[in-house]
Amino acid sequence: MDWQKIKKFKKQFHRAREAFKALSVNRVSQTLYSDLSGEVHSRLILPPEKEISRLGVLVYPFANPESDTYLKTIVQIIFDADVPVLTSDEKEKIIKILDKIESSKLLIQFEDTATTARDSYLDYFKGEFFSNDVIAFRKIERFMRNPVMKEQVVCNFYSYSKNVYTVCVEIYSYVRKMEKLNRSDFSEEVHSNKDNQCIYCLSSGGKFTSEEHVYPESLCNGKIILPKGNVCDECNNGILSDLDNHLSNHEMLAFLKVFYMPIQQKTGKFPSATYQNMKVEKTHPRKISINMQSDSAKSVTLKEDGNFVNLKFKGIGRRPFNAVFLGRALYKVALGVLAWQLGASVALNKKYDLARDFILGKSTFTNNLLITFEVEPKGYIEGVFVPTEQGTLFALSIYGVTFAFNLEPSPVIDVVPELEKVHVRSYSLSA
Ligand SMILES: [Zn+2]
Repeated sequence: MDWQKIKKFKKQFHRAREAFKALSVNRVSQTLYSDLSGEVHSRLILPPEKEISRLGVLVYPFANPESDTYLKTIVQIIFDADVPVLTSDEKEKIIKILDKIESSKLLIQFEDTATTARDSYLDYFKGEFFSNDVIAFRKIERFMRNPVMKEQVVCNFYSYSKNVYTVCVEIYSYVRKMEKLNRSDFSEEVHSNKDNQCIYCLSSGGKFTSEEHVYPESLCNGKIILPKGNVCDECNNGILSDLDNHLSNHEMLAFLKVFYMPIQQKTGKFPSATYQNMKVEKTHPRKISINMQSDSAKSVTLKEDGNFVNLKFKGIGRRPFNAVFLGRALYKVALGVLAWQLGASVALNKKYDLARDFILGKSTFTNNLLITFEVEPKGYIEGVFVPTEQGTLFALSIYGVTFAFNLEPSPVIDVVPELEKVHVRSYSLSA
């Protein structure tokens, strides 16, 4: 039994359910109105684009045959359960619904391109949200130039997303039933770790029911995860989650997060960043809205520069810069990377005990944190470490902002004049 896929399905379903609940308009309706010349027009009433996009993005893993949580894959797992979950009538019903959702024709035909509601949904998803799919992009682009067609494409995208969600509601109820009926099989997979020890607080007594995302989930849809048994629940849900929040909402990174994260895996929401003078928010996988407070609107400049647009603005942080708190969040990530790459036993080494105390807020750390301030943004996160005889040096690059530090108190690292020239600054972690 593939409980991993079932678990993924449940997680994604909860995200989609939140997006569904948040819809401000639930039903598509059409209004007719006439203009001054007496000509009659019709207009569809749809939820705002941001809400449609969010739901559409979150149901994609159910509609995409290549995904682990593709509806037919999940249904097959339910069919194959050791203790049968469905009666033959129920089986037949669900097969019918799935076939219908895959092959139902569109109400309005667009020339010969998209023939089913599903194809049109997938074209819109790939073409509108991720323009690197050139074929889908061209198909969609043609429709998007015509306001009436555009409305129909968006309406179909929304209706199809809702249909997929509705089927998921039914499948979810079967999944719950399957879990109850096949419980012994399920619990075996859940508690597979016997030698628990927390790499952060060293305790082995508490509960160890969850895995740990090495990088904050809201910064990257990372697959770098420590399995259960490495981090205790108390650390995971308490201090570590505070540190992750601090890092992912940090003013230096929050804007880049909005830029690079398609959607936040944990919450199923588009990312946003709030500054004292502005709010930056994704409203669609390829659209970002920047709201400046009126008095600071003057500080935005927009310049066309050949094929590029140059946008300049100044975001003012909401909190004073706190190098120690930021350092603790980075050390937390670093120790996790170490455990993930070299195994928990390496991370449990005594030489990291002072780093552990620092992460947990028990003490400061007698070393420095170096940060690059002139950055070329990049769409990924990476951690590189160099364990040496003296010290475990770490370079953590988040969307191009690089942090360098030592997980051990010695040697003390600092900025040399050459680094100062390239805008690297040093902050004490013992202040
Ligand atoms: Zn712990």
